[in-house]
Amino acid sequence: MERQCRALLPARGVVAARQELLAYDCDGLTLHRHQPPLVVLPETTEQVAALVRLCHREGVPFVARGSGTGLSGGAVAETPALVIATTRMRQVLAVDLPNRRITVQPGVINSWVTRAVAGDGFYYAPDPSSQVVCSIGGNVAENSGGVHCLKYGVTSNHVLELEVVLPDGTITTLGSGLPETPELDLRGVFIGSEGTLGIATAITLRLLRAPASVAVLLADFTSMEAAAEAVRGITAAAILPAGMEMMDRLCIEAVNDYLGLEEYPPDAAAVLLVELDGQEEEVAMAMELAAACCQQAGARTVRRAREAEDRARLWQGRKSAISALGRRFPSYYLQDGVVPRSALPPVMRAIGELSERYGLPVANVFHAGDGNLHPLILYRSGDAAVEARVQELAADILRLCLDAGGSISGEHGVGSDKRCYMDWMFTPDDLATMGLVRQAFDPQNRANPEKIFPTPRTCGESARRRTEVPELAGVDVF
Ligand SMILES: Cc1cc2nc3c(=O)[nH]c(=O)nc-3n(C[C@H](O)[C@H](O)[C@H](O)COP(=O)(O)OP(=O)(O)OC[C@H]3O[C@@H](n4cnc5c(N)ncnc54)[C@H](O)[C@@H]3O)c2cc1C
Repeated sequence: MERQCRALLPARGVVAARQELLAYDCDGLTLHRHQPPLVVLPETTEQVAALVRLCHREGVPFVARGSGTGLSGGAVAETPALVIATTRMRQVLAVDLPNRRITVQPGVINSWVTRAVAGDGFYYAPDPSSQVVCSIGGNVAENSGGVHCLKYGVTSNHVLELEVVLPDGTITTLGSGLPETPELDLRGVFIGSEGTLGIATAITLRLLRAPASVAVLLADFTSMEAAAEAVRGITAAAILPAGMEMMDRLCIEAVNDYLGLEEYPPDAAAVLLVELDGQEEEVAMAMELAAACCQQAGARTVRRAREAEDRARLWQGRKSAISALGRRFPSYYLQDGVVPRSALPPVMRAIGELSERYGLPVANVFHAGDGNLHPLILYRSGDAAVEARVQELAADILRLCLDAGGSISGEHGVGSDKRCYMDWMFTPDDLATMGLVRQAFDPQNRANPEKIFPTPRTCGESARRRTEVPELAGVDVF
């Protein structure tokens, strides 16, 4: 396999040395590690297609990989598979400002898209907190969200067209570059499919005009429940913020320490950041209304920032929260559940109770406006018993989200991490229907095998685990 891949790629396009493969053994969820046998670094669509055709001929599974920042184990080859990484596919292919669109290769970093058009007054709205490192291909595969997705929608609302290499190596186009077209929406089917339907090799994105005015408000509270109540109040007042993010005390302490500042009141139990954008007067009115909602919910102080520099200072802590926690605690396991906004206060209380019961600290930093929770379970890795408890606690938190009428994932995808919870949320018929779609694209189950769907091999026997995906035959060509 290695020799055949080398023949298809430019020099240094194949990674086969054991120590170099270490860089590909996990994604952002470091609890699950599997070193792949071989990684390839194509630069063009034709090279991706040639590699996938080779896999098709040889019966070899493959795993697409972007920047490896995913948080559900999606880009990891659990069983022997060729990892096709897009880190050398970083070209902006076309900018079409009159039609407000841009076409990029999949390895282009999210924040580079805005950088390419900001000078002309445009931007790309979906902004995962990992936006300075994650790739657009990974964003498409995970249907990623971000701070501004509350108002502007997640990745699927911003992808107009995809060039895709299907699992048999065929190159095809999904969508047509226009916002609305009459065909079956296969573009939408591909977005969020986590690398199981093929590899996106060129992506046309929608661009937005930068807003005329932006303001940020920071409110601090003596309890998480009060901050959650403010979120409920702001929504009930019919304000639609561009973003609404919450952090708890553990995060506040970590970021203040990390940044060497006390930007967030150190004795607060929670802070809420609300960003408002639009026309000048509209923003000014919404900011006063949002501030009143925070005060009604019990905010101790409310700070307002209009200038770019002041806004950046208020956001700085939120943007560096996960790094700050990573610096303070040896390991974290980040979960991604969703609850209806109205359920935020009781769910936050219940997560605190679970944390105490398990004796494991849980920090919370999340997209509060979407009810998209990101509890980080903090622990020391290396002890199998502790790691098992961490996963049990994470599962209990997701159960809690489902019981509150929510979901096991908001934006990080299912991957390998959450596939065994899929049958908590979906019936066997739901899963079988999804399996049929997958099989229509990939009858041999070779594109990112064993992700998303629970099978007896990966999740154990259960009456509900009857998804008809073919088991992989042993692969020994590496
Ligand atoms: C600190 C931190 C903060 C984060 N914040 C957010 C956030 O706010 N919102 C959010 O949604 N996510 C967030 N994430 C998760 C992660 O950054 C996103 O899921 C991101 O989209 C992954 O992109 P990637 O390039 O790293 O993809 P990878 O991790 O490399 O891959 C992710 C999945 O995409 C598939 N894939 C990759 N490229 C392609 C392609 N070209 N074609 C088909 N499939 C492909 C892979 O097979 C895998 O299943 C965060 C992660 C970290 C570490």
